[in-house]
Amino acid sequence: MNNIQIENLLEKLKIEHYIWLNEKQVQVSCPLAPWLHKNGLDKRPSCGISIKGKPKFNCFTCGESGGLWSLVDTYISLSRDFSLENLRDELLAKDDVSLSTKFESIVDNTDWLYKKEKVIPLKHCLRNYSELEKRCRAYLIKRRVTEKTAKEFDLRYDRKSDRLIFPVKDQNNNIVGAVGRTLRNEYPKYKNLFGFKSGSILGGLNKVNDRNNNILVVEGFFDLLVCYRFAQEIGLDVVCSWTAHLTKSHIDQLSSLNKIVFIGFDGDAAGEKGWQGIKKLRRFFIDIRRAKIPKEQDIGDLHRQQFFDIIAQLRKANLTSFAFL
Ligand SMILES: [Zn+2]
Repeated sequence: MNNIQIENLLEKLKIEHYIWLNEKQVQVSCPLAPWLHKNGLDKRPSCGISIKGKPKFNCFTCGESGGLWSLVDTYISLSRDFSLENLRDELLAKDDVSLSTKFESIVDNTDWLYKKEKVIPLKHCLRNYSELEKRCRAYLIKRRVTEKTAKEFDLRYDRKSDRLIFPVKDQNNNIVGAVGRTLRNEYPKYKNLFGFKSGSILGGLNKVNDRNNNILVVEGFFDLLVCYRFAQEIGLDVVCSWTAHLTKSHIDQLSSLNKIVFIGFDGDAAGEKGWQGIKKLRRFFIDIRRAKIPKEQDIGDLHRQQFFDIIAQLRKANLTSFAFL
């Protein structure tokens, strides 16, 4: 069990006062006090709950102790609140809760990533940051990610692994995993976290806008972060497929959006190979076209105007092809 689940449990047992002694132990006023304590109160508070391994509890005042769920059973029979009988399943079933909790716990305290809301990142105010923070921000600047975009995509930094963390979210904005980019040139450069499988979902789906008719698919999440900023100006969606290849799930997600698809894979052999594979799947889409990326460049390397020119070309090409229908 995690801390959030415990706090939800305490709320259900109507415990308002608790103190976390450390990550795994919380001191609470005894939930059984109304029935088993003198005066029905526990002011100290004298009941300890530990979630180290199998969750346990122990109250020094009434002497009740054992597994946490036996405490819940005792509470139910004393309070006669049978609505709590499914509490255990309710609290433990929510996998997505524990995933976002895990996410929050590795990457908390990264407000410094977004201290300024300006579009251009803060080269000027770096001196207020620690060395690690400076390096992380400098890396974002190098990759042309603005603070505004970093905040919009909820980017985080994990000190322990020294990785910049990109949370992967589905269309309902639920976290389904994360990808961490090392800042110290470790292998692998990109690491999938929380059991995330990159073939299962496109990155950036949570930012897709129903009003846009075109969607651009790029390879990496840094390409996504750079292109997203430009694309917003011209009513274009952007997602990333993590490599120059679309899986069956990616194709299902893309085709269900009913948009004209622009493929913005890198201008290298892998990008070309990926495009040749996708061309055969034309029938799944309204239309699908490849952006002309200069040789050995990524779409995320382009300057704003270059990017606009390439998209304008793609849009014109679409009009032409419709004119002949
Ligand atoms: Zn007690």
